[in-house]
Amino acid sequence: MADCLFCNIVNGDVPSTKVYEDNNVYAFRDISPQAPTHVVIVPKEHFASLKEVDNEAILGKLLMAAQKIAKQEGLDDDGYRVVINTGKDGGQTVDHLHLHLLGGRYLEWPPG
Ligand code: 5GP
Ligand code: ZN
Repeated sequence: MADCLFCNIVNGDVPSTKVYEDNNVYAFRDISPQAPTHVVIVPKEHFASLKEVDNEAILGKLLMAAQKIAKQEGLDDDGYRVVINTGKDGGQTVDHLHLHLLGGRYLEWPPG
């Protein structure tokens, strides 16, 4: 998807700070971090959102990547949150499926 921001981050046309990469997944630091650790985890293949994804395996790979990155970022002891904003009410602003990995401070619940 030539006009998709996260496709362009995956292919390197838009620079990012890489945190993790494997065959299917790319992860980078959020440009506007909402916690001391804020990583965006995306499938290399374009899916617009959780509504559109039809590949069970990629969802498993994204979550396993989140688990690995959390450990790599030193979040295992105190915990962390993984979020998938979806659609308008979910607060999704980039239409390429992504997980947010947040940690490094206590995160309030419920969200605003
Ligand atoms: P959403 O609001 O769609 O759930 O999350 C999109 C996230 O992408 C936001 O947290 C936003 O800060 C981040 N973001 C938007 N543009 C860029 C960018 O160009 N680079 C990086 N690293 N993050 C971005
Ligand atoms: Zn995309």
